[in-house]
Amino acid sequence: MQRLRFHLALIAAKCSIILIKMLGRNASHNPGAIALKICPKFMELAPKAPKVICVTGTNGKTTVANLLTDALVSDSKKVVSNRLGSNIVPGCTTNLINSLNIWGKCVVDATVYEVDERASRLILPYLKPDFLVVNNLFRDSLKRNGHPDYIFNILNTYCPDNTKLILNADELCSSQLKPNNDRVFFGIGKQETDLTKSINLIADYSFCPECGEVLDYDYLRYHHIGYAKCNKCGFHSHDADYLATTIDRENNTLTVMVNGEEQKYPLISDITFNIYNELSVISTLLELGYSYEDAYKLVSQIKVPDSRFNQDEINGVPVIQVLSKGQNSVSSSRAFDYVSEEKGNKVVILAMDDRHDRKKSVEYIGWIYDVDYEFFKRDSIKQIIAAGPRCYDHKVRLLLAGVDESIIHTCFEEVDSVELINWEEIDSVYILYDVYTYDLSCQIKEKVIKHLEGAK
Ligand SMILES: [Zn+2]
Repeated sequence: MQRLRFHLALIAAKCSIILIKMLGRNASHNPGAIALKICPKFMELAPKAPKVICVTGTNGKTTVANLLTDALVSDSKKVVSNRLGSNIVPGCTTNLINSLNIWGKCVVDATVYEVDERASRLILPYLKPDFLVVNNLFRDSLKRNGHPDYIFNILNTYCPDNTKLILNADELCSSQLKPNNDRVFFGIGKQETDLTKSINLIADYSFCPECGEVLDYDYLRYHHIGYAKCNKCGFHSHDADYLATTIDRENNTLTVMVNGEEQKYPLISDITFNIYNELSVISTLLELGYSYEDAYKLVSQIKVPDSRFNQDEINGVPVIQVLSKGQNSVSSSRAFDYVSEEKGNKVVILAMDDRHDRKKSVEYIGWIYDVDYEFFKRDSIKQIIAAGPRCYDHKVRLLLAGVDESIIHTCFEEVDSVELINWEEIDSVYILYDVYTYDLSCQIKEKVIKHLEGAK
């Protein structure tokens, strides 16, 4: 009976994919939802690919899953992934359906799943991944995810015991996952720019998880990312099996120590959080059994998806879109830090209001008090335009951060922000957006480009 349900569910889901695609829509969520309605045990019953890789964590999972899929595809492997971002149970089920033919036989070499960390309890026990990549666990939307420790407990409880974990040694929460599983760690060694005290508003994990003593950090990169040690009981961060030693931003290379040998890879992005993303992809490729030479070739062919970071130059003016996830204080602080450090005078457009969440409710706005708006207190930032329904909330936060009121502008409609730009004093335009305002940020960018082309 179970098998019959499974096959009926598969056929119905496959038909729905054809229909949804005929309507010109993304068939990323509904086919999985239909299959689960007919056969609630679909995920458990479906045959799995020879290699199943799941990617989860607070920040970077979409980028890592996409980079990894691209790398495997460029090796002529047949791979499916839920790259359209549907990462809860129906989306992962759709991905599973795409790995099967109509007879229920697996027809791919590997499946890559981006898995929502909170939904992982309903996914990981059934997919039984060979590898689980976790980049980090940070504070995220309070409403959706509560506290990172709550998410840690979900992953720690529901990740199968025989899954190999690929973890970030520099992140003290996720690196403690599943201590009895087979695990490897990646990390970035001490860099010149590292600190010993966090300058961010949010720096969790200040206390030793073993004895409660205040932790000493050999180096801190941002928030609690770094190498921690306890002077009382000897606890310390894990040492990395894949350790990035040199980040050469001039020659775009990334040197990684593996088993005492140096491996040099192309640096696909010079933003630190993307270096962690790249490093997790390199670690996974090597764990999959690729040689250094083959992993090098594959990494040479991948690039960070446009929906996360995108740069154009119009008449000598760079126009840059940077993802700054709404309700996610670490993602936004990283984006703010990056923008403030870039050269030249700039205008920053903040279009990060989470329109998706706002559809049916009022979103929690306290997260903006966890974000380091203080990074905008720099001379090179000539204008900040807070755009969207929450523009006044952002303005209050900017004022509290000590940003000069004369450079702060507000508008309710994101696309109207372009009209507020004083073009005379700026060298570049930065558009910061949320996952759900990417399309809006593209509209803003189009308007900016139109102006710059007209000004030629
Ligand atoms: Zn201790």
